[in-house]
Amino acid sequence: QPELAGDFGTLMAWADKVRRLKVRTNAETPADCRTAREFGAEGIGLCRTEHMFFDAGRITSVRQMILASDEAGRRAALEKLLPEQRADFAEIFAVMAGLPVTIRLLDPPLHEFLPHEDAEFEEVAKATGMEVEALKRRAGELHEFNPMLGHRGCRLGVTYPEIYEMQARAIFEAAVEVAEQSGAAPVPEVMIPLVATAKELELMKAVVDKAAEAVFADKGRRIEYLVGTMIELPRAALRAGEIAEVGEFFSFGTNDLTQTTLGVSRDDAARFLGVYVEKGIYARDPFVSIDVEGVGELVELAAERGRKTRPDIKLGICGEHGGDPASIAFCEKVGLDYVSASPYRVPIARLAAAQAALAK
Ligand code: PEP
Ligand code: MG
Repeated sequence: QPELAGDFGTLMAWADKVRRLKVRTNAETPADCRTAREFGAEGIGLCRTEHMFFDAGRITSVRQMILASDEAGRRAALEKLLPEQRADFAEIFAVMAGLPVTIRLLDPPLHEFLPHEDAEFEEVAKATGMEVEALKRRAGELHEFNPMLGHRGCRLGVTYPEIYEMQARAIFEAAVEVAEQSGAAPVPEVMIPLVATAKELELMKAVVDKAAEAVFADKGRRIEYLVGTMIELPRAALRAGEIAEVGEFFSFGTNDLTQTTLGVSRDDAARFLGVYVEKGIYARDPFVSIDVEGVGELVELAAERGRKTRPDIKLGICGEHGGDPASIAFCEKVGLDYVSASPYRVPIARLAAAQAALAK
């Protein structure tokens, strides 16, 4: 592993001697993964796959998938996306060289990918053979009044399992390919977003496991992997005991968990949270430092309930709080296994994890 040079490297080495928490990174490009490794990341805690879907070379296929009128149409578009996803994951696995890589299946509301310009609709019409007018009608039908609480996360996987099936196939095909080329077998952890109930996770895990078995049978080689979930809704935190019967790890998505626990939109909070902090309603901006009494209590409770069901359950955090020193101290206190921070915050997370361990 590349090491940071000079006094900074020495300080990091001291931090690593005393910290208990592992430090991973949130990254989805090979360049970010490399940067994070240079800063000492010990794996990927969150690879957001939706960013890959915006790539200029594939957005038309993504739009074709969304606007298709039936499953056959969606599958035709997904077949085009499969080799590109496989290449995305293969590059990341190669850079991470046998370290754990948590890949989150598609999360955002589908309308985010919709075409706006006539030329974009015409491009999709050319690819699908559908009329522009029909495509526009379908795009209109996808409108949501409150997309962040709408058709996103595992709800996409429940309604269109073929999307998650394609992503799982891409993950396992890439993992086998990299294992054969490099000798360092990748360690994929497939993560299901926005789960509220154990049944959602059960359905999605079945899709992932089935895709894995098909790939392993086809390639004649198996890869060890985990299937787990984000805990980012209060209901998931409360029902963590039964969710842990299915999920092999939890990663706390404290961005959404803060939004849904406080009932404050993460995109609009800036308008009034400054005043709230000034008036002492919240001690700190809860989207920066974990709101220990509210969101923190849900995290603690979910960790306890998850561990009761599955004592060896792996617990991490991948919301923005994973790179915030005060929140890292809280993660140490409740005994999470790792924090995951953006690449440039990995060194501060290593240091904060050490300080938290010393304070304890
Ligand atoms: C979260 O909700 O904390 C999270 C990490 O997911 P995202 O920010 O992508 O919603
Ligand atoms: Mg989230």
